[in-house]
Amino acid sequence: MAVVIQTVEEHSPAHKAGIRPGEMLVSINGHSIRDVLDYRFYMTDANLQLELNNSAGSPYIVTIKKEEYQDLGLDFETYLMDKQQSCKNKCVFCFIDQMPKGMRKTLYFKDDDSRMSFLFGNYITLTNLEEEDIERIIKMRISPINISVHTTNPELRVKMMANPKSGESLRYIKMLTDAGIRVNTQIVLCPGLNDGEELRRSLSDLCALYPNLQSVAVVPVGITKFRDGLYPLRCFTREEARQTIALIEEFSARMLAEHGERVVYPSDEFFLEAELPIPQPEYYGGFDQLEDGVGLMALLKEEFFSALEEENQDVCPKQLSVATGKAAAGLIKELAEQAMRRFPQLNISVYTIENRYFGPQITVAGLVTGTDLMDQLNGKPLGEKLLIPSVMLRHEQDRFLDDITVEELENKLNVPLQAVANDGYELLAAMTGQN
Ligand code: SF4
Repeated sequence: MAVVIQTVEEHSPAHKAGIRPGEMLVSINGHSIRDVLDYRFYMTDANLQLELNNSAGSPYIVTIKKEEYQDLGLDFETYLMDKQQSCKNKCVFCFIDQMPKGMRKTLYFKDDDSRMSFLFGNYITLTNLEEEDIERIIKMRISPINISVHTTNPELRVKMMANPKSGESLRYIKMLTDAGIRVNTQIVLCPGLNDGEELRRSLSDLCALYPNLQSVAVVPVGITKFRDGLYPLRCFTREEARQTIALIEEFSARMLAEHGERVVYPSDEFFLEAELPIPQPEYYGGFDQLEDGVGLMALLKEEFFSALEEENQDVCPKQLSVATGKAAAGLIKELAEQAMRRFPQLNISVYTIENRYFGPQITVAGLVTGTDLMDQLNGKPLGEKLLIPSVMLRHEQDRFLDDITVEELENKLNVPLQAVANDGYELLAAMTGQN
């Protein structure tokens, strides 16, 4: 196996050694290179012998001396240097299966690639890994790994993920933590399936892996209006959400008393569904699970209040608007009121966008579409600019989930849009016109 070199950085060790784009990398110090992890791991040595094929296909060898850990300077045709691994599961709660037809093809890709976990923090299920893959993770000291566990009951995991390998692959979690690899885990909680006593069992098993268990995020299942023909699932009621938080608190309080950190956290959505106040920032320790929506709101609020305290610049009179999903709307209204109290020359309208595209039970800002913004804000007073959370936009930040572009929405609503990161300082600066 060999991988095609796309670019060679000028003045890098590889460039100085005469390696050129279009050639193929076969091995480093006798280790064949399958993907980006092999490349990153084996290129760290100071003394390297590279086996390559030149553009005519003839093999040759170069010897390179460089600083330990210095980048060789090679880039490859695809970032992973290999096909991205897709998942082999059919989880009963899978969000992708609940999306309407006709969206962009890439949105339907079910990623389950351990290399993406290491490189970008993606969650993996372990169901498409073999023991040798786990040994490679251990050998390369790839840590932490983010794992979607859902339940530690093997039979229930097979049922929830509709994959016969999902039960037995649970043992890989212990292999990893026994070898000192730290894991962040998540549980997508479905009422009547893996909650209650099943959740107690999962948390008990996972907490036993501490200290190499870094965190557990418990997230309620998201239900769209496109579930025809799928496993019957529903959302948590307010009472069930409260009971779930109470159960999680049993474990997090125990972990806090024994180890000084909570480790186990309900996501922000659980507090909203339970109609309970979001905890203070101290509750979340190192905010290990922000990507999973754990502590996002507490952090935003804390940052915003600190920014307000530190703000001492002149603020010009301004009329503007903010649009967000139902979940964060209460908090954003509170922050906007604080900003207007401090700067009476600001006039900020906050609009709650109901998710008509996926259905009203989807409340997070990250799944609000351009169509819903267009329909629900048309004709509303929006002021000089409209702020939206940047998570509403795809990675390239130019379009929404439903392919409506920023420009299209600006033209339709006749207002410039400003995407703001989930950061209290940035939000205040956007409101006051400092950025
Ligand atoms: S692992 Fe499950 S939830 Fe994730 S993409 Fe695959 S089927 Fe969907």
